[in-house]
Amino acid sequence: MRIGTLDPLALTADQDARLHAQRCARCGSTTDLRPGGYAYTASGTDGGRLGWPVVLCKGCPGSGA
Ligand SMILES: [Zn+2]
Repeated sequence: MRIGTLDPLALTADQDARLHAQRCARCGSTTDLRPGGYAYTASGTDGGRLGWPVVLCKGCPGSGA
């Protein structure tokens, strides 16, 4: 996934749904979803990241994972 590292304090409801694999991580579709790798959010103040298993829809290019 290359949707960047998100600020967990600034997530929209849509981004939250994508991180929880309820929507396609790229386009937000809720149909024909499949495993799509990981997205990341910033974790704490030490520069760490949290990985989230996300999904992609059939219409978006996969991560190749
Ligand atoms: Zn999609």
